[in-house]
Amino acid sequence: MKIPTVTGLMDTSQLGYTLIHEHAVTCCDWSMRMCLRGQFCQEDRLLEMAVIQLKKAKAAGIDTIVDGTPINLGRDIRLIRQASERSGVRVIVSTGFYHQEDPWLTWKPREEIYGYLANECEHGVEETDILPGILKCAVDHLGLTDYIIKILGITAEAARTYHLPIFCHTVPELRHGSAILDIMEDHGVALENLIVGHSGDVDDVDYLESLLSRGCYLGMDRFGTVTATPGTTLERRVDTILRLCRDDWADRLLISHDYAPYTGFIPSWREASTDEALEKAVNFTYFEEFAAPMLLEKGLPEETLHKLTHENPRRFFEQRD
Ligand SMILES: [Zn+2]
Repeated sequence: MKIPTVTGLMDTSQLGYTLIHEHAVTCCDWSMRMCLRGQFCQEDRLLEMAVIQLKKAKAAGIDTIVDGTPINLGRDIRLIRQASERSGVRVIVSTGFYHQEDPWLTWKPREEIYGYLANECEHGVEETDILPGILKCAVDHLGLTDYIIKILGITAEAARTYHLPIFCHTVPELRHGSAILDIMEDHGVALENLIVGHSGDVDDVDYLESLLSRGCYLGMDRFGTVTATPGTTLERRVDTILRLCRDDWADRLLISHDYAPYTGFIPSWREASTDEALEKAVNFTYFEEFAAPMLLEKGLPEETLHKLTHENPRRFFEQRD
C-alpha cells in the first residue's frame, strides 16, 4: 500500500523503523517568523539544525518520521522537504489544527475550515504537491470546549473522506481520552485509525488500558522531551510500556519523542541554535540509545521491541478504512 511522504509516495513495506510523532524541523509560529525575522529564528540555521539531527537519526537506523506539525503550529513544508532530502530520513506530514483557540478559526464557518483540510488532502499542502499522510488534532488544558469539539468533528470528517489516520494530542493527566474516543466514534471514525497522543506521560495503566480496550493506538511518544508530569522519568516511561506489553497490548503502542530541532515556544533561539545545544542527548535517537536498551535489559523480548518500532507503525498506516 502506498502512502505519501514529502519526497513522494512510499510503499508501507518501506516504512522501517518509524517514529510516530516528531517535528522534523520546528514548531514555530509563522507570524513571529514573518514579523520578527532573525530575532525569532533564522531559516538557514533552522534547516541546518534539522539536517544535523535527522542525519543522526538516519545513522541510528531510523527510516521514517511522522511529522506532527499541523497548519497553525508553524508547519513549513519546504524546510521539511529539504531536511528530508538532505538527511535521507523519510517524513510523513500532517494536516489539521492545534488546540489554541485561534481568532482566525473560531468564528469561521465550519465548511470553510473543513475546506482548508480538504484542499490539502486533495491537492497538497502549502501549494506543493505533497499530500498529508495523517491528520492532527489536539485537546489540551481547556478540555473539550465547543471550539475543540468543532475542530475534532471536522478532523474526523476529513479522516473518513480521505481515508487518513488521526493523531490526537492530549494531556493524559486530564484523562480526556475516552471523551475524545466517543466524539471520534460518533463521527464514524474506526478507533484503530486513531492514536491517543502523549499517553506515555502517565503510568496509570488502568486509564491507558481503558482506552486500549476500545481499539485505539497509544502514543508512547515523548521519550526524553516533555516532562510536564513530575517524576516522569525514562525508567517510568519504560516500566509503563513493559506493564502494557505484559498485559498483551504490545500491538497497540507507538514510539516517539515529540522532539523538534527547535521548538519555538520553549527554549530561547539564541541558546537552542548553538552548536553545544545540538550535542544534547535528547534528539530523534534518544529512544534507540537509552530506552530500547533499558526495555531489553528489563526483559522485553527483541521481537516485541521490533513490533513497537517497525510492525505497529506499518499496521497502523495499512489498516486505514
Ligand atoms: Zn508534538
